[in-house]
Amino acid sequence: MIFGATGDLAKRKLYPSLYHLFNKGKLTKRFAVIGVARRPLSHEDFKAHVKDSVLTSIGSNDNIDEFVSHFYYQAHDVTDSDSYMALKKLADDLDGEYSIDGNRIFYLAMAPEFFGTIAEHLKSDGLTDTSGFKRLVIEKPFGHDLPSAQELNERIRTAFSEDEIYRIDHYLGKEMIQNIEVIRFANALFEPLWNNRYISNIQVTSSETLGVEERGGYYEKSGALRDMVQNHMLQMVALLAMEPPIKLTTDEIRSEKVKVLRALRSIKDEGIKDYFVRGQYGEGQIDGKSVSGYREEHNVNEESNTETYVAGKLMIDNFRWAGVPIYIRTGKRMTAKSTKIVVQFKDIPMNLYYSMDKPLAPNLLVIHIQPEEGITLHLNAKKSGQGMETTPVKLNFSNKSVDGMNTPEAYEKLLHDCMRGDATNFTHWDEVALSWSFVDKISDIWESTKDTGFPNYEAGTMGPRAADELLAKDGFFWWPVTNLDVDNC
Ligand code: NAD
Repeated sequence: MIFGATGDLAKRKLYPSLYHLFNKGKLTKRFAVIGVARRPLSHEDFKAHVKDSVLTSIGSNDNIDEFVSHFYYQAHDVTDSDSYMALKKLADDLDGEYSIDGNRIFYLAMAPEFFGTIAEHLKSDGLTDTSGFKRLVIEKPFGHDLPSAQELNERIRTAFSEDEIYRIDHYLGKEMIQNIEVIRFANALFEPLWNNRYISNIQVTSSETLGVEERGGYYEKSGALRDMVQNHMLQMVALLAMEPPIKLTTDEIRSEKVKVLRALRSIKDEGIKDYFVRGQYGEGQIDGKSVSGYREEHNVNEESNTETYVAGKLMIDNFRWAGVPIYIRTGKRMTAKSTKIVVQFKDIPMNLYYSMDKPLAPNLLVIHIQPEEGITLHLNAKKSGQGMETTPVKLNFSNKSVDGMNTPEAYEKLLHDCMRGDATNFTHWDEVALSWSFVDKISDIWESTKDTGFPNYEAGTMGPRAADELLAKDGFFWWPVTNLDVDNC
């Protein structure tokens, strides 16, 4: 059952993903999808809507009529028990028709204020009372701070146990995010070096060129810290920094990630300004076109102090990482759309090739998350010709060039995982709670300091100058995201 079936997420991501799974044979014929939303629609109208969504986003129509024949629709008011009774009746009928054995997945692709209410009704109106499995898939944001996340969690836990709750962080469905574990734990080359003896710093960048578009109202209350750092950025850090799990099971992996979040140095009060920088874009140029500043965007307060950019220095106080800064930055209206991780290795103890005019470049491992997918290893080699001059070289693996356009989208993988009952790539409550408690300390200070100096970076740049100073005071600089590209190698 997809709650929010006429919404943007369902249209752009969920139906195309289900269609892919169907055509790849990963969905048996024994499935039915009930679309649930406010407006009245017939089953036939809804099937046409799903068909249109698939055709618009994929452009293929193989087996499309057979696929949409599995879709049904229920007009619904999320606060009204009668709606849930009607939904239960339809679900029970389809259970019999498709021999589904009472297995149910409830996907909440709706505004988060409804999550608690829907979960409670699913229980009180009997939809969770089923002979098969029951799973709840929840979109972000999961609360807007720790207390609200706790309250939401308590409400959904009245109807679902922790192992039945699949909290989506779509970054965890991305091919190269899942690859972090493999790169680390399947290569003798990296794991022995993956610690404070050999790594000088790690940089995680997730930049966008887009502004807030139509989401000004939502973004005003969220900002980059809540929208990106609390979930996606901290999840990437946890995967980069965790200890090898004893097995690749959901519980073992999650418990290692939780340990990283517990070891994050807690920064509060006066200390925040030494570790975190916030920014907001002013007007500027993107791809040669003038764009307006954040405060001029639709549904945004003209004196808004909401941050559209965050840079931070994270310290993980454990044996492996003591002394290694992990820098993160994320923002809107930046120079390039790019998500990348740069692992910078320490300089070798003695440089035989050093000359004052040309220091040796450090070794870098770059993990390209999006839009390109791949890995680049930056090494030094001998410049061809006479003499022993060194030159930087790049070893490059591009996932796209191997897999073509067939890399499954994050939602496709996550939906499939949920159907199989594999919650590894979803966030556990402990991760959510620890991330909120880390981020809340920063937002508390930022919200009480109104003198922000916003806007403080021009659209089309890589953020405020203070973000460069954050690294410069440790003797580092941000590796540029653009000329590290796989395609340029
Ligand atoms: P949307 O506004 O496009 O769709 C909302 C849906 O909820 C519609 O189908 C609407 O009919 C239904 N709805 C609203 N009020 C209702 C009510 N009282 N009773 C029954 N149905 C009701 O929203 P969206 O963009 O699809 O986002 C849904 C969720 O997914 C949100 O939590 C959002 O944060 C999250 N999300 C969206 C995207 C995206 O790309 N759109 C990406 C990541 C996360």
